[in-house]
Amino acid sequence: MSKKAPWHSVKQTVYHDDTDCNTGNNIERENLRTGTGGKPKCAECKKLDK
Ligand SMILES: [Zn+2]
Repeated sequence: MSKKAPWHSVKQTVYHDDTDCNTGNNIERENLRTGTGGKPKCAECKKLDK
């Protein structure tokens, strides 16, 4: 598992913090922002936590 500083997409309602998350990895560069954006953590990243 690879933890990273949180990032999110302006097109999504969640943030990501795991580099193994497919959804997090597929964010288009123009939609990518650093930080949580005040959003809840993505379900896939939560699963990768365990
Ligand atoms: Zn994620």
